[in-house]
Amino acid sequence: MICDNITTAENGHLLFAGQDTVDLAKQYGTPLYLMDEDRVREKCRVYTAAFRKHFGDKARPLYASKALSCKRIYEIMREENMGIDVVSSGEIYTALQAGYDLSRAYFHSNNKTDEDIRYGLDHGIGCFVADNVEEIKVIEAEAGARNIKQPVLLRLTPGIDPHTYEAIATGKVDSKFGSAIETGQAEEITAFTLKQPHVDLAGFHCHVGSQVFAEDVFERAAVIMLEFVAEMKKKYGYMARQLDLGGGYGVRYVDSDPFLDVDTKVGEVAAAIQETCARLGIEMPEIHMEPGRSIVADAGMTLYTAGTVKRIPGYKNYVSVDGGMPDHPRFALYGSPYTCLLANKMNEAADFECSVVGRCCESGDIIQEHVKLPRSVGRGDIVAVCTTGAYHYSMASNYNRLPRPPIVMLRGGKESYAAVRRESLEDLCRNDL
Ligand SMILES: *Cc1c(COP(=O)(O)O)cnc(C)c1O
Repeated sequence: MICDNITTAENGHLLFAGQDTVDLAKQYGTPLYLMDEDRVREKCRVYTAAFRKHFGDKARPLYASKALSCKRIYEIMREENMGIDVVSSGEIYTALQAGYDLSRAYFHSNNKTDEDIRYGLDHGIGCFVADNVEEIKVIEAEAGARNIKQPVLLRLTPGIDPHTYEAIATGKVDSKFGSAIETGQAEEITAFTLKQPHVDLAGFHCHVGSQVFAEDVFERAAVIMLEFVAEMKKKYGYMARQLDLGGGYGVRYVDSDPFLDVDTKVGEVAAAIQETCARLGIEMPEIHMEPGRSIVADAGMTLYTAGTVKRIPGYKNYVSVDGGMPDHPRFALYGSPYTCLLANKMNEAADFECSVVGRCCESGDIIQEHVKLPRSVGRGDIVAVCTTGAYHYSMASNYNRLPRPPIVMLRGGKESYAAVRRESLEDLCRNDL
């Protein structure tokens, strides 16, 4: 199986986190998001332990909460002592509702509104990750009005060649994010920020991309960033206290995706950092990374009920489910691969090739193509889509006025509880005047 929290019972039912998915579908209805709470906590602990081991006590992983944002997940992050990234007032509000201490939160985004910046400051945001000079100006003015000195990281683009690393798109020079080192804009914004009396430049940030498996992406980014740190030290006498290398470790969506061992990967990055700091004669800054997907993705699974099965002889077969692109947007957005299973018929041979599609009025409303399910698939069967913990609920919409599914958390091999309730038809009209 693609993840060890997915198994099969003797009766042919798919088990997730040790629990019968067919029973869960019956109890909570479909479409249904399941989250393996134990898995989320385990991932947090793996990252926290790896950081302590390889980077020392002050370094910490920050959960990039855009991957899955709801009150329960912020409670878990609070309990697991994780820092967090937020990207909007909405995420801040949700974290506050969960009792999360915002002094451990980093506020990202390439376009924070003035309201966002005020909202962050009013609620004691730990650090802004400023994308550009305009933001620094607003932060300076608002922090000045409050008579505080606000910690800020600057988001830079290390300019890693995207042709070498296909998965990477955000660390390029021409990205909409951050200031490029190569063009001199990174230095400009650094010099500008150092002159602001109410902005405390804590260090630098970069984020090279997502779903990264390539060998040395983080190492290369770290080297480029540290060289910049050393240059700023030489030119301006400014030594960065923090260096944040972003998120992006890949997860297994399908069998052909590799396993990635976080401790090993973090160890390799740490080795490159130590070597580079020694070469440049600078001390190692406090290192942060911001995993999102790799914390929650394989802790998630979506369950649907199959409806119409359409066989078009000589062409293709379709299995329609009771959800679709509103709750599963990543195939429509990027053609992302996923593993689909027939949860109530795991002991039948899966040799019926089909497209699993949603119920929306949109031909691009596809869960996955070239799926192999048992030939007997039909109305009422339960279709499971694996590895849906990241960028599913958080990207879900109400397209076609479909209520968003609930999130049901699983723990301890037998306990389940709703963390987000299913939207009702009334919810859909809540804001209609
Ligand atoms: C999206 C994002 C992350 C998390 O990326 P994952 O691929 O989910 O790990 C981290 N940092 C920044 C700045 C991001 O935009």
